[in-house]
Amino acid sequence: MAKLTQPIDQMIDRFGPHLQFTPPGGWEDIGEPDKLVKTHCCFCGVQCGIQLKVKDNDVVGFEPWEEFPLNKGMLCPKGVKRYLQGRHPDRLTTPLKRTPNGFQPETWDNANDSIVENIEKIQAEHGNDAFAVLSGASLTNEKAYLMGKFARVALKTKNIDYNGRLCMVSAGAANKMAFGIDRAANPWSDIPLAKCIIVTGSNVGECFPILTSYLWEARDNGAKIIVIDPRMTPIARTADLFLPVRPGRDSALMNGILHVCIKNGWIDEEFIEAHTHGFEEVRRKVEEYSPKVAEEISGVPAKAIEQAAEWWGTSATSILMHARGIEHHTQGTENCLTCINHALATGKIGKPGSGYFTITGQGNGQGAREHGQRCNQLPGARDIENPEHRAVVAERWGIDEAELPGLGMTATEMMQAIHDGEIKGLLLMCFNPLVSLPDTEFTRTALEKLEFFCVIDFFMSETAWYADIVLPGSAQEEDEGTVTTSEGRVVKINKAVDPPGDAHVDWEIICDIARRLSTFEHFPFQNSEDIFRELRVLSRGGIADYYGISYDRIEKEMGVFWPCPDKSHPGTPRLYEGGKFYHPDGKAKMHAVDYRPPDEDVDEAYPVILTTGRVVSQFLSGTQTRRIGPLVEQYPEPIVEIHPNLAVELGIEVGDWVRVESRRSFVILECRIVKSIRPDTVFIPYHWPEKRSANRLTNNALDPISKIPEFKVCAVRIEKSDRAAAEAVT
Ligand code: SF4
Repeated sequence: MAKLTQPIDQMIDRFGPHLQFTPPGGWEDIGEPDKLVKTHCCFCGVQCGIQLKVKDNDVVGFEPWEEFPLNKGMLCPKGVKRYLQGRHPDRLTTPLKRTPNGFQPETWDNANDSIVENIEKIQAEHGNDAFAVLSGASLTNEKAYLMGKFARVALKTKNIDYNGRLCMVSAGAANKMAFGIDRAANPWSDIPLAKCIIVTGSNVGECFPILTSYLWEARDNGAKIIVIDPRMTPIARTADLFLPVRPGRDSALMNGILHVCIKNGWIDEEFIEAHTHGFEEVRRKVEEYSPKVAEEISGVPAKAIEQAAEWWGTSATSILMHARGIEHHTQGTENCLTCINHALATGKIGKPGSGYFTITGQGNGQGAREHGQRCNQLPGARDIENPEHRAVVAERWGIDEAELPGLGMTATEMMQAIHDGEIKGLLLMCFNPLVSLPDTEFTRTALEKLEFFCVIDFFMSETAWYADIVLPGSAQEEDEGTVTTSEGRVVKINKAVDPPGDAHVDWEIICDIARRLSTFEHFPFQNSEDIFRELRVLSRGGIADYYGISYDRIEKEMGVFWPCPDKSHPGTPRLYEGGKFYHPDGKAKMHAVDYRPPDEDVDEAYPVILTTGRVVSQFLSGTQTRRIGPLVEQYPEPIVEIHPNLAVELGIEVGDWVRVESRRSFVILECRIVKSIRPDTVFIPYHWPEKRSANRLTNNALDPISKIPEFKVCAVRIEKSDRAAAEAVT
């Protein structure tokens, strides 16, 4: 049983500005860099181009990369400060093994022997599927591909999934159902061409700051910007129309907007007839959602619903974009389908300035969901349960199709399976479930039950403290590879420095273990490009077809949009042109959606809605950004946002500390009284661990299709507390 060997609070205190990297001789005397390396930001799915300054094998700064077309040299606060994590003192530099006296350094050979011995023991005693793999959506396409092959060919387990399960899977599932392909429909260069833009469930200004400039360019060109969100986020403050939706009521609102469009004839019947199925069912369903009904459910005034419909329906071009705000729900897939219905019914898709997309969250949020590290997916975004898809992949991997494992468990289901004793061992790379998953206590007790747990990462994450073996992997700037941006553009990450100490690059670590379990022939890779060459071949003819993409092309063309089926193909920046969708008959499918309430609604005992999200200076579980001093200083601790009306009702004043309690646990945090949130809702950012973790409170109920947890709604009660009580929490 894996147990902590250091109190977690001691570890938390290790974070912060005092430990950030300072070059030998200090910043004053740094001199000219040895080289500038063109690459991309290591954080969000925008994947801004950046040039890293390198001196003496350290990243010591950055220069804008103005020629890269997406961000044209712009960077947000995270991109600007990313170089400060490079040689952070917390960087893992040697394999570690848990001993009765805490973690001790171990040789790679001994660590790998121990890993293989434990895998073989667990699989011999409990079957292959008792050993599971979890990986991350920050990994390059090459590593995502390798993790899938490692699990299915070396470990022969069906249980592999990734942390994108907590991110974009609702959008991905809806895209597949409606369009037959899962990618943004438009390049961002289409945004300034739109005359109406709906942004729903996305705090663009803080989570994807560079996108703001595209929206403002559209506004300068005359576009109406409509923002739907329970909070008046920075982008909402500059919108033409703000719809303050009650959390968890998005499908009712979108049905209401489409209701008005249909009633007023602001739909494209020719497009519907020629290019879609299912409109009649959708029309009948949304008939039930008059603006009045939609107002009653969503809390958005009927007049605002009518105005949004009119602007969208009567504009020559319109784009709808969303992010986790509508996806992190037990109805996440349905919420996305209502947005797709809207774009399809009005024919606003597949044209310059007209389209629909989700804004991917993690660095490779797009590519990491295409190459086979999901439990239901094979390379090329193929379906693991489709016999033809299985046969293609098995043949190209040189294995018998019968040996290829089937559908596995999702990341969230795995935690339950560990509790149930079905999963006994876990190998995890670049994923911090102890901070990221809902219901922290449930996750913690699952990790403690594992017979064997191996973590590969470059910082000691909160999760890694529960491991038996921790292997030091590579940070983004220490290896090359490709990632696929939020637009669907495949770009190149270039190596700037070598991994420090005895750390290894991630793909080498996985290949070393794989070759001990399988044969060299299956894992013959000598570098990342070898893996990319195999990935291209595996993707050929699949939905996510990368066959025509090469490292050379990416560098020369500043990225290539997939699908790109052969070397002479120019790539596909805009999907669905001419109304051509990716289902076998070329048509899109609309789906009638009935509003369902959240899994956990408010009641007398828990009368307030909690919603969670990000702040501009932090990123996801904070493993990296909580180690970058200036970002920590910008937003040092999680703060509860409360509306003044609710504050008065609860007797809470500015500067007070509050206890927020859900059915699972509680946190005590400082509060901020703001008018920018609905009075029935409070907000807590989720980047912190342990007693400051928003996910102590959240509900692990899942969307039945995508299996995404309901991070965006749970019921809480709030009472005044104080700092001493917060400090006493264990
Ligand atoms: Fe990095 Fe995203 Fe910020 Fe660009 S917008 S600098 S990719 S975190």
